[in-house]
Amino acid sequence: MFKALVLDQVDGKTVSEIKTLNVSDLPNEDVLIEVDYSSINFKDGLAITGSGKIVHKFPMVPGIDLVGTVLASESSQFSVGEKVIMTGWSVGERFWGGLSQQARMKAEWLVPLPEGMAPKTAMAIGTAGLTAMLCVMALEEGGVTPDKGTVVVSGAAGGVGSVAVALLARLGYEVAAITGREETAPYLKELGAKHILTREEMSESPRPLEKQRWSGAIDTVGDVILSRILAEMDYSGTVAACGLAGGYKLPTTVMPFILRNVRLQGVDSVMCPYERRSQAWQRLQNELPEQLIGEIGQVISLEEVPEYADKIIKGQVQGRTIVDLK
Ligand code: NDP
Repeated sequence: MFKALVLDQVDGKTVSEIKTLNVSDLPNEDVLIEVDYSSINFKDGLAITGSGKIVHKFPMVPGIDLVGTVLASESSQFSVGEKVIMTGWSVGERFWGGLSQQARMKAEWLVPLPEGMAPKTAMAIGTAGLTAMLCVMALEEGGVTPDKGTVVVSGAAGGVGSVAVALLARLGYEVAAITGREETAPYLKELGAKHILTREEMSESPRPLEKQRWSGAIDTVGDVILSRILAEMDYSGTVAACGLAGGYKLPTTVMPFILRNVRLQGVDSVMCPYERRSQAWQRLQNELPEQLIGEIGQVISLEEVPEYADKIIKGQVQGRTIVDLK
């Protein structure tokens, strides 16, 4: 018997409840895992509060991330006692997820916990941190090196944004952080941001081209802020776009692309192939100092999840929220 958060639909509304389940209640996948930690991402917030059409069928155990220990395995890839991470693959949307003390997962969704990484660290990173790393890799592939100029990060005090700021600063980039919460400035500076820009100043509709300011950008919010970033990119700059916290629209023009050679690179972590995923986790292990991870992550209980799901949707959560399931 174990505890899990279960979502259901009552009168067309999503409701969440902590239930006691049996292993036999879990979907029939090939690896049974005792979950140490899960986390709350923006997408979990949408699923748990019902404010986004994230869940494809009910009842659903949400949680797009988990780290834990293999209890039983029908796969030759993983053996009992091994520590594994799962992020993405529509888990917590189409398949039962990580906000549960036990979970059954497909072996192909799992990556081994990198040697030397603590399980809690893995969830301080989670989908958000993996996405931040994939965005940094996209900038590198676009030729954005620290000597080229300043890299701007939007939604900087959120999960993806926080890890992106910390990673970029650690790799030697000069980082500008865009935030809607002035009070997060000391936190962002602690993570390594050199410049703080307000969401307000970046939300003014841009002309097709503005003064060049950024060699690279990681955008987690979309809409007008992304269009302003595009208009302000240096010649041959690269923008890695991964989120829509501010909206899914992109009111832009072709000018940054055809006159400034700007590259707009989409980044998806959900279906990211195994090789690239493992490479990103290894780089996170090598390049993100423990002390910064401590700054970014706060730990909550399963009982507190609905409250934090609501907060993340309202933009009130700083950094990453780790859920202790032990
Ligand atoms: P968080 O809620 O932790 O962070 C989002 C941040 O965006 C907030 O902290 C806030 O930052 C800013 N923000 C919130 N509302 C608005 C708004 N209306 N206008 C402008 N900025 C806003 O979420 P995550 O970091 O987990 O995710 C960020 C985005 O990335 C989400 O859209 C998510 O769906 C997406 N994502 C995509 C992935 C992929 O694979 N492509 C994977 C993971 C996330 P501040 O307070 O600093 O302004």
